[in-house]
Amino acid sequence: SSEKWELDLEELVLGEEVGSGQFGLVWQGYWRDLKVAVKTVRDCAMSEEDFKEEAQIMMKLSHSKLVQLYGICTQRSPIYLVFEFMENGCLTDFLRGRKGTLSQEMLLGMCLDVSEAMAYLESSNFIHRDLAARNCLVSEDYVVKVSDFGMTRFVLDDQYTSSHGSKFPVKWSAPEVIRYCRFSSKSDVWSFGVFMWEVYSEGRLPYENRTNGEVVEALTAGMRLLKPRLSPQTVYQLMEWCWKEKPEDRPSFALLLHELACLSET
Ligand code: ADP
Repeated sequence: SSEKWELDLEELVLGEEVGSGQFGLVWQGYWRDLKVAVKTVRDCAMSEEDFKEEAQIMMKLSHSKLVQLYGICTQRSPIYLVFEFMENGCLTDFLRGRKGTLSQEMLLGMCLDVSEAMAYLESSNFIHRDLAARNCLVSEDYVVKVSDFGMTRFVLDDQYTSSHGSKFPVKWSAPEVIRYCRFSSKSDVWSFGVFMWEVYSEGRLPYENRTNGEVVEALTAGMRLLKPRLSPQTVYQLMEWCWKEKPEDRPSFALLLHELACLSET
């Protein structure tokens, strides 16, 4: 039942605002003695009934490289989503703020962390749908964790959910997602390739000078993102593998995890 995941509002203390996202404001806070991030959901930003059902599944997903959802408060509007708190914030900002200071070991470690989370989601038959550096967060001890898994399905803004909308993450999307909204673990793999590109580009925006329309055209013509200066050839080969036109030609996350683990040992 849903009550199981319902947190008591009395046990929740809100602190300062730490950001704002697709659904509403994000606050730092405490649930009992645990430091948490509380996402508030603006009225009409989310299909709440659908979400409450799905939250059951999301709370059962538990892995050291996934940002844990602890529970929800739905007694009052706005509803609250209560997550594990990540001290070092969003990965895109983290990468941009530390440009030029991140070692090869750290960059590879970030890719490895996220491949672990994604291999877990893949084995749980759960599709992320919006994997990107902006949806990964950095912990106090610099572990990168995946956040916002599956959440785009509950966004009611069609500028965000339609592949033709202005907010749709075209630059991270596999061709079959852009064309037919065909999401799968293999379309997550495509996004993971773009994620690795972001890591090795220290948080730069992919296809910086192109519009979404131009990106679609370039991809159709067979063009791909270029090797970032900091990326070893071996890692770039993995990116290119993720960007194979046919989903079945791309590696699984289990295989990517294995390949990245091998690279980190050498
Ligand atoms: P979006 O919906 O645009 O992906 P989010 O709602 O996930 O954005 O988060 C907005 C901002 O709030 C993030 O960039 C980050 O700075 C902060 N934030 C979100 N979740 C957490 C968390 N679990 N711990 C710490 N900060 C967080």
